[in-house]
Amino acid sequence: MASPFSGVLQLTDLDDFIGPSQDCIKPMKVDKRSGSGVAKIHIEDDGSYFQVTQDGGTRKLEKAKISLDDCLACSGCVTSAETVLITQQSHEELRKVIDANKTAAPGQQRLVVVSVSPQSRASLAAQFGLNPTDTARKLTAFFKKIGVHYVFDTSFSRNFSLLESQREFVQRFRGQADSQQALPVLASACPGWICYAEKTHGSFLIPYLSTVRSPQQVMGSLVKDFFAQQQHLTPDRIYHVTVMPCYDKKLEASRPDFFSQDYQTRDVDCVVTTGEVFKLLEEEGVSLSELEPAPLDSLCSSVSAQEPSSHRGGGSGGYLEHVFQHAARELFGIHVDEITYRPLRNKDFQEVTLEKEGQIVLHFAAAYGFRNIQNLVQKLKRGRCPYHYVEVMACPAGCLNGGGQLKAPNTPGKELLQRVETLYSTVRTEAPEDAPGIRELYRCWLQGEGSERAGRLLHTSYHAVEKASSSLGIRW
Ligand code: SF4
Repeated sequence: MASPFSGVLQLTDLDDFIGPSQDCIKPMKVDKRSGSGVAKIHIEDDGSYFQVTQDGGTRKLEKAKISLDDCLACSGCVTSAETVLITQQSHEELRKVIDANKTAAPGQQRLVVVSVSPQSRASLAAQFGLNPTDTARKLTAFFKKIGVHYVFDTSFSRNFSLLESQREFVQRFRGQADSQQALPVLASACPGWICYAEKTHGSFLIPYLSTVRSPQQVMGSLVKDFFAQQQHLTPDRIYHVTVMPCYDKKLEASRPDFFSQDYQTRDVDCVVTTGEVFKLLEEEGVSLSELEPAPLDSLCSSVSAQEPSSHRGGGSGGYLEHVFQHAARELFGIHVDEITYRPLRNKDFQEVTLEKEGQIVLHFAAAYGFRNIQNLVQKLKRGRCPYHYVEVMACPAGCLNGGGQLKAPNTPGKELLQRVETLYSTVRTEAPEDAPGIRELYRCWLQGEGSERAGRLLHTSYHAVEKASSSLGIRW
């Protein structure tokens, strides 16, 4: 199959070779030929790059080497041709663990758990012409067929991320008189954005970031702590894989903050993208649509899930909506049924306000894509950011459009995205506080809401990465 990245790029007046879609901080020099001001780059099906020389010939270009530490997770190169550089986490690794289990001595096997994101499920549903429920059941059947023991859904862990975000916002809103950096709260579920914030505006932005773990990392806590206890296993005896819409989630899982020194294991051992699951299906010669569905697994023995559930508020998790509705009720006693978005510069920068007695009392925004993120950061730096909360996502159009999602060679990107969005929105939604099992887990696993244990397992911290290089002057 032809690579979706085959083709010719025309880079006008660039000093450096850049990745397929955005500037990278690890650029490679390309000799500029005098006079033309244009460098033509040809990308082969196997991902090799060639510079087209003035005499019409080609010159092979060396690939830029990016380590996990260097990468900005800007959703440009990392989401496409540089995939091969992220070798620590791939579907091959999952396969190795499954194969090792087959020959392991009794008692030496690792319990393999896969947690699937709702965005990946929607992308696979579009690819195979299935509805999300059938996709979830058939994916469960597929993973179990190849040797996975349990398949969970990260919509479940997202309940905790949303509830903790609500609580955190109300607390910081109430404490704004004590700290100048209490507001705005900047959502932190997107590792592409976090990576950018830490590496380009470190100590300035970090105080504003929400400390709540993303659904992937809450799932990490649930699987390696709660579920491990239920199974009478130490965390290192579980191999936890997540299926995610972007490569940036691999970087998130690799953060030292999510590594247990005691057990020498990560909360999420391996992240595979939606595209990698598709590859796995192809390699196994399996068509998802032809598989017999299997019942869904549930993390809580008291909960039996017949169908997947989701949350209101769009394909990136619904942070803005949930925090807004909760804050309106909790802080101003106003019940908000429907959220009305007002587009600003473009459809990826929108705002929502709550008025009381003619005054704006809550001012929220959603800023997707690095152009809008940069705009937001500039507003903050100039002291002209009017927002109390911003849902920040690195990908234009959000997580359903993540770089690890499936592409369809014969379907225009926009049309495919619309199909994925429609499928995603057909899943039954529920309020996080009403989700079965959540209250019970707060009580029995976390020792109550707002407890020290909940703080440790559901929150994280960030670290400024100071770069001496001027290569961070990125033009988005
Ligand atoms: Fe990944 Fe979503 Fe962030 Fe895109 S917006 S980089 S898909 S978390």
